[in-house]
Amino acid sequence: MEIEIRDLRKAYPGGVVALKGLTLTIPPGIFGLLGPNGSGKTTLMRILSGLLEPTSGQARVAGYDVRTERARVREVLGYMPQDFGFYPNLTAYETLDYFALLCHMDDARARRARVEEMLSLVNLSDYADRRVSAFSGGMKQRLGIAQALLNDPKVLIMDEPTSGLDPEERIRLRSLLAELAGERIVILSTHIVSDVAMTAERLAILHQGNLLFSGDVEELLAPLRGKTWIIDIAEEELSEVRERFFVTGVFRSATGMQVRVVAEKMEHPAGYAADPTVDDAYVFAMKHDGNQGETS
Ligand code: ADP
Repeated sequence: MEIEIRDLRKAYPGGVVALKGLTLTIPPGIFGLLGPNGSGKTTLMRILSGLLEPTSGQARVAGYDVRTERARVREVLGYMPQDFGFYPNLTAYETLDYFALLCHMDDARARRARVEEMLSLVNLSDYADRRVSAFSGGMKQRLGIAQALLNDPKVLIMDEPTSGLDPEERIRLRSLLAELAGERIVILSTHIVSDVAMTAERLAILHQGNLLFSGDVEELLAPLRGKTWIIDIAEEELSEVRERFFVTGVFRSATGMQVRVVAEKMEHPAGYAADPTVDDAYVFAMKHDGNQGETS
């Protein structure tokens, strides 16, 4: 069971080419889809969900073609968009009941059991009878997950799931995703590197509709091993360091600035070796995109 994407292209009417010939295989487990705003993540997820037609190329979800077997794809896939269209006046229970009806769960008893099971899974049983309008961002998010899981999909696609969550809710979401993954494919689309760094077994980096990287975290970090450094400097030195080195991050320390850089050798007296992070690798990949600036 996997998702197979072959030479997928999407040109929107008006000329924006959001995907420029993407080829990618996504196996079971948590898969991070990382890229800045506008890089094509939502376009890709909408195509995989059968909500949007690609211009050319192919995509198969668990063996089903997203163009010609759309109904099948819908059966095996749960999509959690960034903004759910929840009705504020419905309770959590009524919301899930309504979506379960839309999924053709016609048997009332089975539907009730499923809705209760989902509420419990996302820790909302105690709030079943509360209106969604009174929910926090994190509670709405969890209700969104419960909704996307109603038909027990093999593939769960989540668009920017941590936006609007506080740190505690983020951690809770992470644990829930780890629990859910197993045999499923869980695609987590985000522009926040730390969302993916902690949870995803594999990831892809999109930039301007191109695939910059696909693989596991170790493969992402490998090219930066032995080439990542920290330089401790005073603030006044920052622009000079920026000119000399490829900077992946700047942090304030107790005594001045800490600058993370990628370089073959370290010739600065205040520089020392550091382990590369996913953040370093992401910034590095972005800046070394050979297709940068290309529009078609
Ligand atoms: P992301 O989810 O990574 O932010 P999107 O897939 O939303 O990226 O967008 C990719 C590109 O396609 C952007 O340049 C965006 O402006 C453009 N785009 C997205 N949706 C449409 C649309 N319906 N019509 C025209 N252009 C669009």
